[in-house]
Amino acid sequence: MSDSDDRRLGMDRVITRRDFMNGSAMVIGASLLPRLPESDSFNRQEPQNQSGYYPPTSTGMRGSHPGSFEAAHSLRDGTFWSSAAEPVNTGEVYDLVIVGAGISGLSAAYFFRERMGKSARVLILENHDDFGGHAKRNEFHLGGKQQLLNGGTLLIDSPTPYSEVADGLLKKLGVNPPEFEQKFADDTLYHSLGLRSAVFFDKDTFGEDRLVVGTPGGGWSEEGLGQAKPSESAWREFLKRTPLPPQVQNDIVRIQAGKVDYMPGLSSAEKKARLCKMSYRDFLLNVAKTDPGVIPFYQRRTDGEWGVGIDAEPALDCWALGLPGFQGMGLKPGSAPHMSYSAAGYANGSSYRFHFPDGNASIARLLVRELIPDAVPGHTAEDIVTAQVDYGHLDVEGAPIRLRLNSTVVRVQNISPPASAKEVEITYATGKQAFRVRAKGCVLACWNMMIPYLCPDLPESQKEALHYLVKVPLIYASVGIRNWTCFQKLGIQSVSSPGSYWSDVSLNWPVNIGDYRSPTSTDEPILLHLSRAPNKPGLPAREQHKIGRYEILSTPFEVFERNIRDQLARTLKDGGFDPAHDIEAITVNRWPHGYGYEYNPLFDPDWPEDQRPNVIGRKQFGRITIANTDSAATAYTDTAIDQAYRAVSELMGI
Ligand SMILES: Cc1cc2nc3c(=O)[nH]c(=O)nc-3n(C[C@H](O)[C@H](O)[C@H](O)COP(=O)(O)OP(=O)(O)OC[C@H]3O[C@@H](n4cnc5c(N)ncnc54)[C@H](O)[C@@H]3O)c2cc1C
Repeated sequence: MSDSDDRRLGMDRVITRRDFMNGSAMVIGASLLPRLPESDSFNRQEPQNQSGYYPPTSTGMRGSHPGSFEAAHSLRDGTFWSSAAEPVNTGEVYDLVIVGAGISGLSAAYFFRERMGKSARVLILENHDDFGGHAKRNEFHLGGKQQLLNGGTLLIDSPTPYSEVADGLLKKLGVNPPEFEQKFADDTLYHSLGLRSAVFFDKDTFGEDRLVVGTPGGGWSEEGLGQAKPSESAWREFLKRTPLPPQVQNDIVRIQAGKVDYMPGLSSAEKKARLCKMSYRDFLLNVAKTDPGVIPFYQRRTDGEWGVGIDAEPALDCWALGLPGFQGMGLKPGSAPHMSYSAAGYANGSSYRFHFPDGNASIARLLVRELIPDAVPGHTAEDIVTAQVDYGHLDVEGAPIRLRLNSTVVRVQNISPPASAKEVEITYATGKQAFRVRAKGCVLACWNMMIPYLCPDLPESQKEALHYLVKVPLIYASVGIRNWTCFQKLGIQSVSSPGSYWSDVSLNWPVNIGDYRSPTSTDEPILLHLSRAPNKPGLPAREQHKIGRYEILSTPFEVFERNIRDQLARTLKDGGFDPAHDIEAITVNRWPHGYGYEYNPLFDPDWPEDQRPNVIGRKQFGRITIANTDSAATAYTDTAIDQAYRAVSELMGI
């Protein structure tokens, strides 16, 4: 792109994107602080104890922000110990150290204290500058008003009902999802303004840029299994306005109408047995015999759920997700053998559903308030939304529960042979300085593929199993815009962009809870959510994830920003959107290690339960146990909680 294109897009504009409070600036800033003598309370030097430390308002590159992963990567590459200073023994001894302050790690602290009582001494170590893990809060102040968005996990929902343990924890935190959904979610605002879903067809993929408003059925995400399907004529009218050739339009109408049984003469079980062995792409091309021009229209429909497109997802799983083409095939409701965790769950039903304005970051904040009340003001699940966390209170000497940020754990070792171990030594690093603490037990609530590097003494078979799980890379961008009159002019609230860099663009979903109010006037600033699942269609799913992870880590912020500006300019141009003038703030949450990996029936063996890599990988090792959603081989809040409960129970011999 030329300099004048960049100027037109506003790449030179001063916005809140690379301010001095971004993650790396805070960590670097802290390393320049004078070091206190060792005997002094060393934690006073921690970045989180510096005044003004408030990561939720940091913009620019978030998610796995600069400064959060370098120590881990150098441990993986075998260079950490040669460049790190000799670890300092802090002299601290705890009942439990937890690695990872995501929902699983915070839940583990909660369950441990529930069993051990209020005097239990727990240290939680987290490599990022904020707690919550994927439950990341993006907080903006636009036009003087607080606006929130999820930087990672959004919904309290799951393919299966929440377990007694996970539901019980939500209840103890004061969260009642069905009641909250009724009371606080505003499903009517955009509808009342006449805003609908749309598809943006881009020039590179479809020959011309064209926004087509009024996706039948309200857009992809609302097309669940068993939902009423829009009529054939609605699809025909919509497709007529697209740049798709007539044959492609006809085939899409046929797929959407779903009147054909493509496997006549077979029972439902026989059809399911075939559909679980072919990709949805192959189903469309080889079974439904559509024109190949249909594929780009559907290719990214599974990106949001599994991080790969329809080339790498079984047709049967796509049926369970509600993708079209199966309605005439007489498939009986319910799961079948060889389905992914999510698809099997969706085929049988799913859990309740609610989202806080900052997504599940509110759950993380509620947990922190339970554990360290001085750090988070307020008393209810409603007032948590606008509460200002005092990060300086998270790691206070003498407090029973301490949460230490910017601290990457690099070694976890039983202090005698695992079978007889009574204590664990944990080494963590902040920058190049390493520190040691001891504990009676340790829960690794961190990303499972990191564990072989932390515990090189683990049995080889367990390390191999842990390495099998390749997390799913994802990018969520939060963009603050001056007003949303262009969305009103165009009559849109969300746009699917099957061929563009960002696959989805949407206005923030309105929810009004506690003192928090979503924007209601189109003249007010608002936040947009954009998402991208980087992948490489045609390869096995785990290979696609590895390539996507590399893409995320090697993409500079400037490239994300240019793609945001360019895509919004092209999508919203007929509404009068000017990216140089209208964009006020940008945060890119990159998750090279995103969703926990779910076994994919197209590529993974159908192991018996006890031989699954996640089950072998999560085995207790002396005084060390393993939590995190990776241990469940899936990626939902309820499983993060359930795995924490199991890991704590194992440690306590329950
Ligand atoms: C973009 C995105 C969207 C999602 N949306 C949803 C959703 O809508 N609903 C839902 O239920 N789930 C969603 N998920 C899944 C989400 O992963 C889980 O729900 C849950 O939040 C995971 O919690 P966790 O504690 O197991 O893992 P994490 O949140 O990943 O927390 C683990 C923490 O351990 C830290 N860590 C790793 N290694 C170390 C180390 N060596 N030292 C110190 N700390 C370490 C990590 O940095 C991380 O902060 C989403 C995930 C992503 C990435």
